[in-house]
Amino acid sequence: MRKAIVVGAGIGGLTAAHALRCVGWQVDVYEQAPKIGPVGAGIGIAPNAVKALDRLGLGVDLRERAKRQDGMEIRLRSGRRLASLPGSRIEERYGAPFYALHRADLHELLAHRLSAATLHTGHRATRVTTETNAATVTFQASAGPVSVTADLVVVADGVHSELRASLFPGYPGPDYAGYTVWRGLVSTTSPTVPAVLSETWGRGARFGCVVLGEDRVYWFAGENMREHDKPAHRLDLLAERFRGWHEPIPQLIAATPEDTLLRHDVYYLRAPLPAFVLGRVVLLGDAAHAVTPDIGQGACLAIEDAVVLASTMEEQGIDRGLRAYDTVRRPRTENMARFSGRLANTLQTTNPVAARIRDVIALATPTPLLTRAAGTAFAWTPPPLAASGSAVTGSP
Ligand SMILES: Cc1cc2nc3c(=O)[nH]c(=O)nc-3n(C[C@H](O)[C@H](O)[C@H](O)COP(=O)(O)OP(=O)(O)OC[C@H]3O[C@@H](n4cnc5c(N)ncnc54)[C@H](O)[C@@H]3O)c2cc1C
Repeated sequence: MRKAIVVGAGIGGLTAAHALRCVGWQVDVYEQAPKIGPVGAGIGIAPNAVKALDRLGLGVDLRERAKRQDGMEIRLRSGRRLASLPGSRIEERYGAPFYALHRADLHELLAHRLSAATLHTGHRATRVTTETNAATVTFQASAGPVSVTADLVVVADGVHSELRASLFPGYPGPDYAGYTVWRGLVSTTSPTVPAVLSETWGRGARFGCVVLGEDRVYWFAGENMREHDKPAHRLDLLAERFRGWHEPIPQLIAATPEDTLLRHDVYYLRAPLPAFVLGRVVLLGDAAHAVTPDIGQGACLAIEDAVVLASTMEEQGIDRGLRAYDTVRRPRTENMARFSGRLANTLQTTNPVAARIRDVIALATPTPLLTRAAGTAFAWTPPPLAASGSAVTGSP
């Protein structure tokens, strides 16, 4: 049986582990954190990733845990609707609905497929080398350094990937996107919010909210800020920043428990990596192509990567399959990264004239704007997986 090591138990690494198991590989996942615990706030799973999860036999689990979104819309601070796309149109056009769920639920959905024996927490990868027909990773663990060799190493250690830096020493690494994202979770018994993925545009700031289920609303707020800035009284500041914005934005901020508030500076890979494959090492997810969250596609692309990797391994074997993965994934992810970066500049602009032009264009061309933004990502179709269904239904 072919053996793979996956470095990183994020959404990308866990999906890759599951996908490779589906096509008959033995997989061990190594994660630096001491345990896999509840992470983050909400996450949107767009139709492209829903189709990929369906291909892996995970669609039923996703639908049990996630909330189907009735559409997408963009508003101005006043509440005026700039553009909207009904959920039925999304499903009809792209072949699957848009879902949202708590990140911890997505992690749990993916992680519970792995047995405890194949998930090695407390292992920080420090080095990877590729040999003929194999690759070796060295980990720092509590018992000391450990080296493990396999037919394939999947590097899925995120945007700040240590392994990417060691594989591509001349590569500049991630850039700060110039804004930070605040995220919160609120009980829906407070303000009521329709199950529509909604984003409101201002100047140098924007606010989005998404219903996750019967009792939870997830919101996010992008705000231009200096890197590593750590303001005190965070909810007070946010309440001030979004004062006068349409309902339920101020109400959601006011109802947010301080301990659910998260803040992350946004990093992305400005320059595309020259390759996603080096010998028997393959990069996947944010380690390979971190995009800004403006099109909500980072995790969706990581899920796509995993399905493509499993499919190319199954159809073409390791070496030809890796070349095929590199050929297929680089143009797709470069395209999405360019699009997301351009959108970030437009959405976070502080220039009143640029913001006005943006809003006028959105008002004049509401449907093309959303279908172009969404369609580029959503229209993707996963490749076939002949073995799909064998490893997916059995217990780990
Ligand atoms: C504010 C915000 C909102 C977003 N919203 C969405 C959204 O709605 N939809 C969407 O599709 N995407 C979204 N994204 C993007 C998405 O979060 C990422 O693209 C996705 O999590 C990447 O997954 P990953 O597995 O590649 O990396 P990560 O999730 O970063 O996982 C990497 C894992 O590797 C581990 N690790 C790191 N270094 C090592 C090491 N040396 N050794 C061992 N383990 C290591 C880490 O601990 C971690 O568990 C958003 C991002 C942000 C910042």
